[in-house]
Amino acid sequence: DLGSSLRGTLDDLRGKSRISEDDVESVVTEIQRSLLAADVDVSLVMELSDSIETRALEEEPPAGTPARDFVLRIVYEELVDLIGESTELPLEEQTILLAGLQGSGKTTSAAKMAWWFSTKGLKPAVIQTDTFRPGAYDQAKQMTERAEVEFYGNPDAEDPVEIARNGLEETAHADVHIVDTAGRHALEDDLIAEIEEIEGVVEPDTSLLVLDAAIGQGAKDQAREFHDSIGIDGVVITKLDGTAKGGGALAAVDQTDSSIAFLGTGEEVDDIERFEPEGFISRLLGMGDLGQLAERVERAMEQTDIEEDDWDPEDMLQGNFTLNDMQKQLEAMNNMGPLSQVLDMIPGMGGGLKDQLPDDAMDVTEERMRTFQVIMDSMTDAEKEYPRAIGASQIERIARGSGTSEESVRELLQQYKMMEKTIKQFQGMGSEKEMQRMMQ
Ligand code: GDP
Ligand code: MG
Repeated sequence: DLGSSLRGTLDDLRGKSRISEDDVESVVTEIQRSLLAADVDVSLVMELSDSIETRALEEEPPAGTPARDFVLRIVYEELVDLIGESTELPLEEQTILLAGLQGSGKTTSAAKMAWWFSTKGLKPAVIQTDTFRPGAYDQAKQMTERAEVEFYGNPDAEDPVEIARNGLEETAHADVHIVDTAGRHALEDDLIAEIEEIEGVVEPDTSLLVLDAAIGQGAKDQAREFHDSIGIDGVVITKLDGTAKGGGALAAVDQTDSSIAFLGTGEEVDDIERFEPEGFISRLLGMGDLGQLAERVERAMEQTDIEEDDWDPEDMLQGNFTLNDMQKQLEAMNNMGPLSQVLDMIPGMGGGLKDQLPDDAMDVTEERMRTFQVIMDSMTDAEKEYPRAIGASQIERIARGSGTSEESVRELLQQYKMMEKTIKQFQGMGSEKEMQRMMQ
C-alpha cells in the first residue's frame, strides 16, 4: 500500500521542526511513487516534485508547525494548483456537450448529470446522437428513465447532426441540455469530423471530455485532439469506484488548461459527485484528508493563536459523547497518556471508579489510534456528531477517502460505541450537579 509507505515516510518527520535535504528527498520520492502508481503522467510528476522540493527547502515553516505538516501542505497546494477547483457549472439554462472514446462512460454520465441537475431544481434533457453503436438509443433511454429526466433520441435516423438539431428543438422547454455523442475505439478522423459538426450545431456552453479513471498515459493525446477540434472546458472521470485512481486524467486537465467537473462512482444514475480537490487528492495519494491538514497549517501561518489542545476531559462527561470528543480525546492522549490515566486527572474520578471500566474500552494502541485519526479526518462534521447514523455507503466512502479499509472504519465505530457506553456509565453515576460538585 503506497499510501501507508508515504505516511510512514512522513511520520519519520514527526517531532522534527527543521527538515533536512534528505528528509525532503525521501518525501518527494514517496510522492512520486504514489502519483505514478495512480497513473499520473510522468512529466507532470517530475514538474510537481521539482516545485515541491524547491518550496520545501526554501520556504520557512511557520513557528510551531511540525515539518511533516509543512511538507504535506506544500504537496497539497501544488496538487490543487495543478488540478484546480471544479469546473464552473452555473445552475441555470445551459447546453453541455459530452465527448470521449467509446466505453469511457459518456452515456452513463449524461444520465447521471441530468439526474444531478434535476436534484438542483432544474429541468434537464438528454439528447442522444450516437448512431454508431448498436443499442445506444435503448441504453440512453433506459438510463434517463431511471434518472427520471427527459430524453430525446431517434433510433431510425442516421445523421447525428440532424438528431442534435431536432433534439434541441423538441426539448426547447428544458433548462439544461446534455448532448451525448458517439465514441470510437480510438481517435479516428471521422469521429473528430462528426463531433466538430455536432458542436457547430449545438453551440455548447460547456464541452466536457469523459475519461475512464483507468486511462493511463493516453489521456494526453486524446485531450489534445478533442481540445483542438471542439475546445474542452472540463473533464469527467468515470469508474472511480474501481481500483483506478484517475491520475491519468490529470494530463488531460493540464493539456486542456481546464478542470474536473464530475466524478462517476458507479453504474447507477445517482453514482455521481461534483468534483472537489480535497477528497480527490487525498485518494490520489492514498492518504487521509489532506485538505484539513492544509487548513490547519494555513491557520498557523496566519498566526492566529488557535490552541490545539483546548480540549478539557471534563467536557467529555457532559452531554453526548460524539466522535469529535473521541477524536479530541485521542489527540489529547498524545500528550496525556491513555484514557484511564486521563480519567485519573479528573478529581473524583480516579481510584475505584476507574476499575469498573471494561479493560479494552480504553485500550487503543498507538497504531490503531493513528488509523482512527486518519479515518476521522475523512468524516464530515455531521457524521462525527451522529456516528450512529453512519451506514454502509458512508463506511465505504470514508474507507476510500481515508485510504483505509471498511474493516478499520467499522472497528473505529465499534471502539466509539464502547467508549460511549463507558462514558454513559460515568454519567449515570450521579446527577449533573453531584458530578460538578465532585469535580470541584
Ligand atoms: P460510452 O460508450 O462513453 O457512452 O460509455 P457508457 O456510458 O456506455 O459506459 C460504458 C460502460 O461503463 C457501461 O457498462 C457503464 O455501465 C460503465 N460505467 C460508466 N460509468 C461508470 C462508473 O462510474 N462506474 C462503473 N462501475 N461503471 C461505469
Ligand atoms: Mg454511449
